[in-house]
Amino acid sequence: MSGIVGVVGLGNMGRGIASRLLETGHKLVVFDVRPQAQREFAERGATIAGSPRAVADEAAVVLVSLPTPDVVKQVALGADGLVQGRAIKTYIDFSTTGPQVAREVGEALAQAGIQAIDAPVTGAVTGAATGKLQMMLSGDRATIAAVTPVLQHLGHCEVVGDRVGMGQSLKLLNNLMVATAMAITAEATVLGVKAGLDPDVMLRVLNRGSGRNICTEERWHKHVLNRKFDNGFANGLMRKDVRLCMDMAESLQVPMWVATAVDRLWMQTVLQVGAEQNTTTIVQTLEQWAGVEVRGNAA
Ligand code: NAD
Repeated sequence: MSGIVGVVGLGNMGRGIASRLLETGHKLVVFDVRPQAQREFAERGATIAGSPRAVADEAAVVLVSLPTPDVVKQVALGADGLVQGRAIKTYIDFSTTGPQVAREVGEALAQAGIQAIDAPVTGAVTGAATGKLQMMLSGDRATIAAVTPVLQHLGHCEVVGDRVGMGQSLKLLNNLMVATAMAITAEATVLGVKAGLDPDVMLRVLNRGSGRNICTEERWHKHVLNRKFDNGFANGLMRKDVRLCMDMAESLQVPMWVATAVDRLWMQTVLQVGAEQNTTTIVQTLEQWAGVEVRGNAA
């Protein structure tokens, strides 16, 4: 596959994805509603488009990395949306939108002769910037095979199903699990400090034991103990992912007891600390109730 690649959405993830494609020799046409995000890519040689439609007029393959299901629908199907573009043949959604919206958008695009592929990712901003994302691909196998030479520059490509929406379902499970790990690690470490334990000692020991997880091993050191809270994923987006997972569970009639409590704590974090703050600030929700801080030597 050759030619110009389109990218819509140049935020925390899209910026890294687009940078990685530029670094690996791809020509890009990009669009974001934030002029500042566009300027950065203009300076690096990308073509700047005035709308999603203008991206899809230039590029046969268009990647999107957008915040919410509503924005994804607007960009794909709305006025001046990708669906109206002259060149687009394949639409690849890196956002976390849930299976229902992925199917709706996929069906509408198919009517215009455009193949939709799910490609939600894990790996956070560092994975996006360094080409180490895990992509959960689903959709038409031949289309996935055709775009894999581009996608493999972004990380590991795993085909998880042959229908649009299946990648999204798996992504929601992943985010429910990390949302739960963050919630319980916040509760446990705040309780530990309240009980008089030193946060650095506590994490060192937990990480040699059976209670460890990605938060104790990585995120708390990088973003909580040093009080930087700069992990690059917003509380509002995490809350959206947990809600999408609960919607999926509701539609499939699977009871979710633990997830229900986790959902409440993320809602509380959005209200109490803020939707725009990074997800490691879930610790602050608990800290404010308990009157202690999980502050390490690095702070
Ligand atoms: P973000 O808010 O940083 O970036 C979204 C970008 O979309 C912004 O630059 C915004 O200006 C742009 N945008 C908004 N509306 C637009 C529109 N109508 N047209 C064009 N651009 C528009 O979000 P993010 O953290 O980069 O996440 C993007 C998606 O990836 C979300 O669905 C998120 O859940 C998912 N995700 C994020 C992470 C992470 O660690 N940040 C990891 C995996 C998946």
